[in-house]
Amino acid sequence: MQLSYTLSNLTPGGDDGWGLFYEARRRKAAGEAILELTIGEHDIPTHETILNAMHRAALAGHTGYAAVPGVEALRQKVARRLEERTGVATGPENVVITPGGQAGLFAAHKAVLDAGDVGLYLDPFYATYPGTLRGSGAEARAIACHPEHGFQPQAADIRAAAQGAKSLLINTPNNPTGVVYTRETLEAVAQVCRDEDIWLISDEVYDTQIWEGEHISPRTLPGMAERTLVIGSMSKSHAMTGSRVGWIVGPEEVISHLINLATHTTYGVPGYIQDAALFALNEGPWLEDEVGAPFRRRRDMAERLIAQQNVVSLVPSGGAMYLMLDMRATGLSGQDFAQQLLDAHGIAVMPGESFGRAAAGHVRVAMTLEDTAFEEALSKLLSFAETLA
Ligand code: PMP
Repeated sequence: MQLSYTLSNLTPGGDDGWGLFYEARRRKAAGEAILELTIGEHDIPTHETILNAMHRAALAGHTGYAAVPGVEALRQKVARRLEERTGVATGPENVVITPGGQAGLFAAHKAVLDAGDVGLYLDPFYATYPGTLRGSGAEARAIACHPEHGFQPQAADIRAAAQGAKSLLINTPNNPTGVVYTRETLEAVAQVCRDEDIWLISDEVYDTQIWEGEHISPRTLPGMAERTLVIGSMSKSHAMTGSRVGWIVGPEEVISHLINLATHTTYGVPGYIQDAALFALNEGPWLEDEVGAPFRRRRDMAERLIAQQNVVSLVPSGGAMYLMLDMRATGLSGQDFAQQLLDAHGIAVMPGESFGRAAAGHVRVAMTLEDTAFEEALSKLLSFAETLA
């Protein structure tokens, strides 16, 4: 008996770059004091007002099958939210609710790629991207973004890789770099998509976490609403990672096919979870500001600390819960630096190499420890780098 090629090749290759993360988790479980700055999970739980709304909805009986496209009131709310934030006319018919952003990413690629097609993504990348593209049986083709360009993608590089491609996946604010794409970058990306007739899949799950600059959705650019699928999620904005609720926003025709896909895959998202998401969105900005505030604060803290030395430099970034640090002056790879830091100080960060080739010589720091521990961990990281340089 043989498994499908698509499934058994979802993540080919040996070490997926997450070995160090697993090692840190193992050592922590064995009782070692490890400070973890690894994954994108808040250090606070979902706000209790959201949990109360979830509880109320469940007790009120919203525990049966929910409408597959999503509860109408939530689809309307998401549509209004996007319209208010971007100015692009959006109705519930442009929205399908998904079990988190990840399921949205998978479905969006399934909507536009057939087996054998080419889907483009940018390196460095969020860990699941290549596997998500391959899930459609497509070839996942990486395009490197370079530290010399502050990891902003360059139109010429995308154009050079676009031959035969049907889709391009972008993510701003970016995981792993924290980079927020400029208007100039997004206009150039949009131009390539229009010229080469490519679908744009825009992962905007960090859109509420902007510390510098502004979040621009490429769906707002001329001629892009009809070729852009926006991926959104409650995970990062409202610390609801475990609730698994997100959405895809796009042209009505694509959304109608995605609803059909949902009927044949997820069969929707639990009603009480959707009611909780609706409650959270209806609360307005205070909840998402409260969730984002620690990252803004720690980012300021990090900027101050980094400015006091000259070995490690911060990639110019302005959003999300991550800092990408350039460690090349230590002479070590990101992997070796991260391993030595873990061994010497019990501090775990992610090697840049875990996110592709383009971030070699860097490490990603997730700002997901409370302030004092975060400051201590980062200070130790910086002094350790100085001893190596
Ligand atoms: N996109 C990016 C860039 C992410 O970092 C994540 C989660 N870490 C996701 C999508 C998926 O998030 P979720 O499925 O929880 O919405």
